[in-house]
Amino acid sequence: MSERNPLVAGNWKMNGDAASLDTLLDGVLSELSVLALQRCSVLVFPSYVYLGQVANKLRGTIVGVGSQDVDERTQGAVTGGVSAAMVKDVGCEFSLVGHSERRTLFAESDELIAEKFEQCKACGLVPIICVGETLEERRQDRTMEVVTRQLNAVTSRVGLAGFDGAMVAYEPVWAIGTGESATPEQAEDVHAGLRKCLAELDEDLSSRTRILYGGSVTADNAVALFGKENVDGALVGGASLKANSFAEICKAAEES
Ligand code: PEP
Repeated sequence: MSERNPLVAGNWKMNGDAASLDTLLDGVLSELSVLALQRCSVLVFPSYVYLGQVANKLRGTIVGVGSQDVDERTQGAVTGGVSAAMVKDVGCEFSLVGHSERRTLFAESDELIAEKFEQCKACGLVPIICVGETLEERRQDRTMEVVTRQLNAVTSRVGLAGFDGAMVAYEPVWAIGTGESATPEQAEDVHAGLRKCLAELDEDLSSRTRILYGGSVTADNAVALFGKENVDGALVGGASLKANSFAEICKAAEES
């Protein structure tokens, strides 16, 4: 039996407000209480401004909370910046780093993302490093080259001890928010390649690191995706904004 229990994370992006997120959380908690999950962990990633509110509401529940990003610096004259220590201070335990929207909209480089990852670890946050190729890169048969470059930028900066405990999310850019998920076979190919890449660092680390799939995951395609050996759960965007569809995905992960 795999030592990697599944995990489902909802990336709420720049959606919602105080009232609607409170209602969404009520719905998620109520749906999850019916499921009585034993194996599947569940996380949500609200916008910075709602992190404290959400963390307070989720304290003592089975749902963890994380930020969608952190600044690479520790403190000081960084107007608009939010440090990993601040995120930790308001009750978060996780953070995404290197989401494709950060890479594209904010021109974040592999090196910058590695610095953010390192800040998370230094402050006691569990980072989830997102990697993924564009459609053009896939068509050029460069998927593994791109995702291993993105992953290696982090591992070469932080090393084995610095990576331990982190998670990876494979999110093909062409599948994010498009309604066109990778097939289970496409996801498994890349996840197996990423695991091999981690095994070059350390076999044990590789076998215990969770690799999530993200990109148009829905209640309909989750079962098939989670049926693959190296798919350890999902990072879910759109479908995490509806309590029932998010819970259905958690159920699929629980039963995988
Ligand atoms: C995401 O942005 O991380 C994501 C996977 O979005 P969606 O599920 O909407 O494709």
